[in-house]
Amino acid sequence: MLFEELNIITPILRALSDQGYKTPTPIQEQSIGVILEGKDLLGTAQTGTGKTAAFAIPILQKLQDAKPAPRDHRLRALVLSPTRELAIQIKDSFVSYGRHLNLRCTVVYGGVSQVPQTNALRSGVDILVATPGRLLDLMNQKIVSLEDVKYFVLDEADHMLDMGFIHDVNKIIMKLPQDRQTMMFSATMPKEIAQLSASILNNPERVAISPETSTVENTTQLVYFVEKHNKKNLLLHLLKTDNIDTALVFSRTKHGADKIVDDLVKAGINAEAIHGNKSQAARQLALRNFKAKKIKILVATDIAARGIDVVDLSHVINYDLPNIPETYVHRIGRTGRAGQNGIAISFCDDEEIEYLRDIQKLISIKIPVVADQPYAADFNITLPAKKPGYNRFRGAAKSGFSPKAGATAGRTSFGKGAPTAKSGKPPYRGEKSKSYGNFSKKKPFADKKF
Ligand code: AMP
Repeated sequence: MLFEELNIITPILRALSDQGYKTPTPIQEQSIGVILEGKDLLGTAQTGTGKTAAFAIPILQKLQDAKPAPRDHRLRALVLSPTRELAIQIKDSFVSYGRHLNLRCTVVYGGVSQVPQTNALRSGVDILVATPGRLLDLMNQKIVSLEDVKYFVLDEADHMLDMGFIHDVNKIIMKLPQDRQTMMFSATMPKEIAQLSASILNNPERVAISPETSTVENTTQLVYFVEKHNKKNLLLHLLKTDNIDTALVFSRTKHGADKIVDDLVKAGINAEAIHGNKSQAARQLALRNFKAKKIKILVATDIAARGIDVVDLSHVINYDLPNIPETYVHRIGRTGRAGQNGIAISFCDDEEIEYLRDIQKLISIKIPVVADQPYAADFNITLPAKKPGYNRFRGAAKSGFSPKAGATAGRTSFGKGAPTAKSGKPPYRGEKSKSYGNFSKKKPFADKKF
């Protein structure tokens, strides 16, 4: 399909062509027409699927079609994002796709002075991208009014919940006009989010894209059992011996992230950290340097890394395993994007074995273990028996992959000398999958290069 077939107006088509976009991604194919028709939308999709353009293009077009007077820049579209980084990316996307239109977009988020933001707002904006806390502040100060909002996007709703913003989000929604079009996106659909969607959406169309499938099809997942005190050595060893161009390293804590950066820098490796204790300017700079490949390793906490989009990221390294299994999915979704290959490496110490179990249960894959490594720890582990459950990872561990040593199902002893896996294929392949809705059977990006 071509963008032209989606009835997109010429100035936006030109902007998409300026961006080098050739064809719409699956979520764009499925959403743009629906939103242009004026319907509410519930999208099950996460960052990396092209979802920003899926809502930004039709919103820009609708705002443009309404033909506002040239100087009438009233706030008519509001997008809520859980993190500053994602909010900035969304704003940049609106600006790119709307570059040939006479519309204004700005972004507001906390942690920085509000003066430039209020100046931008006072001079008039058509589209506002905001994190919930700062928006509420500005609303309380009567700097922002939502009374003219016609289009409302709630992005990454599940992250809003994880990050404790749902209360703020509800307060904002209460101030929105009833007569509006609402689009809500969430990678997962926990009960609270399903309830919220039922209360804010009016007879929505559902669009579901399972990026995890494509991500995992293109991503080799590996686990390294290692004692906690050896994680640093293992990381340095991998950075020296494996062909790692760029890696996003996840740490559970801010302090841990700083410590990893210290260790890397001491070893002569160019690394920076992003986390909540860093100023917004420092976070943006680190991210820019990483994207420009000026630094090799970016160490991040989950919150700081959420939604960030780094093209060509070859490796994700879980220095610490997350205790929430869905977080693992989000983390490894940073690599293997858009049809490219990626490698997701997880370090697992003895206290993290429970987390690994939960992750494997969620993804219905046994992640191959690399035992042939100098810091291999010999944990004795019982893995869960084959369990029924939904399989969002049908494509699982890259086919054809043959780990040097690994695990078979059941009780397994990992570490040096562990039995060689018969295959890297997921043990539960072929199980019936249960999904949150109408998950696309297509492989979103498998053969697409964009
Ligand atoms: P998103 O999921 O919105 O964060 O988008 C992920 C990445 O895909 C961003 O870098 C976009 O610029 C890029 N992108 C989105 N749509 C397309 C498209 N149709 N063709 C090429 N790149 C795209």
